[in-house]
Amino acid sequence: MKTLKIFDTDAFVDTNEATILTCEKSNKEGYEDCYEVITDSTIFAPEGGGQKCDEGFFEDAPVKDVQEINGEIVHFLENEIKAGTKVLQKIDMNLRFRRMQNHNAEHLICGLIHKKFGYDNVGFHLSEIRYDDGSIASIEAIMDVDGLVSAEDLKEIEMKANVAISENVPIYAILPSSEEAEKISYRSKLDINENLRLVIIDGYDVCACCAPCLDSSAQIQLVKIVDFFPHRGGMRLTLKAGIDAVKDYIALHDDNKNTMKILSCERGRCAEAAERMNVKLTEAHEEKVSLKRQITVMLEKELKNTIRMQGSKYIVYFADSIDEIQARALINENVAEAEKVIVVMFDKNDDTYRFVAGKNENLTDISLRELANKMKINLNARGGGSEQMIQGSVTSDSETIKKFFDSL
Ligand SMILES: [Zn+2]
Repeated sequence: MKTLKIFDTDAFVDTNEATILTCEKSNKEGYEDCYEVITDSTIFAPEGGGQKCDEGFFEDAPVKDVQEINGEIVHFLENEIKAGTKVLQKIDMNLRFRRMQNHNAEHLICGLIHKKFGYDNVGFHLSEIRYDDGSIASIEAIMDVDGLVSAEDLKEIEMKANVAISENVPIYAILPSSEEAEKISYRSKLDINENLRLVIIDGYDVCACCAPCLDSSAQIQLVKIVDFFPHRGGMRLTLKAGIDAVKDYIALHDDNKNTMKILSCERGRCAEAAERMNVKLTEAHEEKVSLKRQITVMLEKELKNTIRMQGSKYIVYFADSIDEIQARALINENVAEAEKVIVVMFDKNDDTYRFVAGKNENLTDISLRELANKMKINLNARGGGSEQMIQGSVTSDSETIKKFFDSL
């Protein structure tokens, strides 16, 4: 490699004066408008190991991407910069720091799992959610290990990791030769001893790693396993660490506060209170079902006293004391099968009835709007509606109403 990787040994350098070694027009797919720039030194970590590349600038020119290609760190920029030019590199240290917090939390959790169970890390990536303006909303680490770990054991591992954070142990990288590497026991996904870089969390973990890392465990700040489930014979774990874990805690705290208010309960008692509410809801639901059943029984009794008049095109119910909901229910229950228009006269008050009439939509030879007009002329009706259902009131006695429907 032509380039000195400054982040290998010091991840907190956020500006660097570098000299351009080569700058060539890119023919990489999607980067046709860019130049591929190689420098004598760099603070830009390329994409790799489940992590996106660093973001930043060469002077004022944004770096579009950084990739390791054929063993070289290649920066993609839209501007051409002549070889030999000195440029000031700047990276977004806030973004790198949050990534390092989550990344090194993964080292710590994996190291502890490896120590206790001997399982290896078989997958890792940082998942990032961004705001519309491109800034980072949240980062979390998603990792796979090749063995099952119980919820109980994960709790213990999580606590140990947080104790390791409080101990403020050093984190550092070494670049051992092949011979030196053979004597060191370390976690690795690859069997490569060349250009090996080992990241050590003193007393907790030794792991082959290519990404920028923190200086001490205390910088991880906090780690929380937020999700875990069996995955491909092992486990998939989601971690939040550092600022992202704190942000998550604040959000959950606010949510918990609102839940406490809704459930009128003390802190730490939400599940209990929700369980009690659940029982009450089940009871209320059962009561509702029972009441509905009682109403149906009452409605059926009521309808037994109903006079049902069967004409050639109409079935007319005189159900004096039912209400509108019951009248509509009566139509809805019968209209699908009936080959006739169903009319319910209800809520009798002296010589006034309210009425609802409905029909099956397949009954195209009868117009309910026409019926409404005829009722206005013959029964002093008021009201109207659609071709499927009309409603209103009539001021006529039951005999006049019966004669009217018989005449249709
Ligand atoms: Zn790593």
